Amino acid sequence: MKKTICLSLLSFVLIQSSLAQTTINRDPEIEQMVREVSADSLQSYIKQMVSFGTRNTLSSVTDPKRGIGAARNWVLNKFNAFAKQSGGRLTAYIDTVTIPADKRRVDTATLLGNAVAVLKGTDPDDKRIFLISGHLDSRRSSVMDKTGDAPGANDDGSGSAAVIECARVMSKHGFPATVIFVTVSGEEQGLLGANFMASKAKKENWNIEAMLNNDIMGSNNSSETNIIDNTRIRVFSEGLPAFETEKNAKNIRSLGLENDGKTRQLARYVKETGERYVENLEIVMVYRNDRFLRGGDHSPFVENGYAAVRITEMNENYYHQHQDIRKENGIQYGDLPEFMDFEYLRKNTVMNLSNLANLAKAPAMPEEVKVEVKNPGNYTDLNWKAPKTGKTKGYYILMRETTSAVWQKKFFTAQTAYRLPYSKDNYFFAVQAVNETGNESLPVVPGVGR
Ligand SMILES: [Zn+2]
Repeated sequence: MKKTICLSLLSFVLIQSSLAQTTINRDPEIEQMVREVSADSLQSYIKQMVSFGTRNTLSSVTDPKRGIGAARNWVLNKFNAFAKQSGGRLTAYIDTVTIPADKRRVDTATLLGNAVAVLKGTDPDDKRIFLISGHLDSRRSSVMDKTGDAPGANDDGSGSAAVIECARVMSKHGFPATVIFVTVSGEEQGLLGANFMASKAKKENWNIEAMLNNDIMGSNNSSETNIIDNTRIRVFSEGLPAFETEKNAKNIRSLGLENDGKTRQLARYVKETGERYVENLEIVMVYRNDRFLRGGDHSPFVENGYAAVRITEMNENYYHQHQDIRKENGIQYGDLPEFMDFEYLRKNTVMNLSNLANLAKAPAMPEEVKVEVKNPGNYTDLNWKAPKTGKTKGYYILMRETTSAVWQKKFFTAQTAYRLPYSKDNYFFAVQAVNETGNESLPVVPGVGR
């Protein structure tokens, strides 16, 4: 049941946290894509990836059957097969770079390659890019072991399979913005492929508005503590921005925006949108860039100023991560497909797909969002300008208490200004553009308007 309250000429919907009172409006086109995501497809991709024996970044790039070269060619072939059904909008390539030997994790100069598929946006004026990534490379107990078996079913066959499945389903549809699907290499060697891509994006001014890094997301159980849970997934997001920290620090401090950077906003968006489309999945925000003292492929992106999050299963199993395949004291070690939960992986893939599709269908973000401070008072006056691209039906003004992790109220207006009977001292606000089918842009936190 939804509760609607009229407020002078404007009306708003009170978003309730209780399950019984939640109103869910889904875009039928996204629902259709969601239904197409298949646990069987995901399983078959992982079986294929494991069949390359090892996908260590330093393994053979020329052997047609074994090693990272065979694996990335296989991904490229998948992308090219999907391209045939895309009406010429999907193009795929291997983006290569020679990584020189270093004293750490690269023993000899290596031709690294990221397998990339670009689903070009249908609106030529829309320069936005939404990126989904997983890492194709795998490792054994020793990261320098390039010959022994390293199946990497979950780390990161799971993320790579999600990328491929999203490309398969989404390439049959058109989106105003561009979506890029990538399986990078060199993650285990030190985020090499992601670094390569993020630096290139920065140098060439790619307008990446969101990057979803999927790494280890298809196993439902923990080592040691024996938890089994396929109903929750974590999304990690940085708090203080890694990029331009000095420049932003004053603004963050004076407005109390420690928890409102664009990556944190993306995490909230991922949670709300993912939970809108995936049943029996709770998206748990973790207020950290990554797991304790560990890193991932989103990091080079946040360091270059992009909003990027890490998506990882709720409970990791260290018997199956970065381990040689062996049996010890009755415990089977190794990252094997038999330890995966493909239904859990399906849900986590759908969570990605619904977010990418919702973002890429949405209008661009509203421009110049401001909170008026000319006169003191208990109202909050917000104004903004229409987004550069997209068919905007109106705007959502999001509101939450300063201590709330998620947005608590959502107001709709077709205008570009809004007065709230709530004091800016006590709440945080943001504005999203929304179109006819309910696809929202990322929220914009207002700046100070004088
Ligand atoms: Zn990984």
